[in-house]
Amino acid sequence: MKANLTGLVELQKVDRELQALEALRGDLPQQVARTKEKLDGLKEEHSSKKVRLADNGTAKAIAEGELKDFQAKLAKYRDQLYAVTSNREYDAITAEIDTVEGKISETEDKILAFLEEEEVLSADLETIEPEIKDIESELEDKDSELKQKILATEAECKSFEEQRSQLAASVDKRIVYQYERIRTGLGNTAVADLRNDACSGCRSNIPPQKRVEIKMMNQLILCESCGRILVSTVADTAVTT
Ligand SMILES: [Zn+2]
Repeated sequence: MKANLTGLVELQKVDRELQALEALRGDLPQQVARTKEKLDGLKEEHSSKKVRLADNGTAKAIAEGELKDFQAKLAKYRDQLYAVTSNREYDAITAEIDTVEGKISETEDKILAFLEEEEVLSADLETIEPEIKDIESELEDKDSELKQKILATEAECKSFEEQRSQLAASVDKRIVYQYERIRTGLGNTAVADLRNDACSGCRSNIPPQKRVEIKMMNQLILCESCGRILVSTVADTAVTT
């Protein structure tokens, strides 16, 4: 058990080094992720508006074709009006003219609406395009900054990670599992030292009998107050929070 506990103390030292290296990256990884998300959202908006603009253009072209047909019909009816021979014929053609004129006015309104939509969509696209470019260059900067930081600490990280896996393999699996669980819950510090008769993790006092047991280092003892694994080491391996 003593070897297991000593192994945990070493494991914790390595975990702290790794945490310190990770802290050097700050919140850059999150910043990169957030920027990517924003960029994806804008690109999606851009492409959906482009599709709408194209559909709008197609619909407008169809309406323009219809308008031409109606105008041709109107001209034809107006010509026929000169050649009428009866009142009945005159009334019939006049009715047709009224109908076609109504359709022309309807189609012109439709075309106007398409033009308005086109204007709005084009303006939106013009706003989004430079925004995408800005965010793309922002992402590029952040990404290369992050890559540099990772590169600068890569070798060190790797060596600590190797040490970590060796240490973890040398300690009883169940104890490593317990260590990890406490570490996750308590923010990277799972092992506390007996210092001035108290737990170095939470500073709560340890009763004399427990202190004796902790000093013997032959059983896994958890601090009753904070739940950390208590060990007794020399001053230089003391663990603080
Ligand atoms: Zn404690």
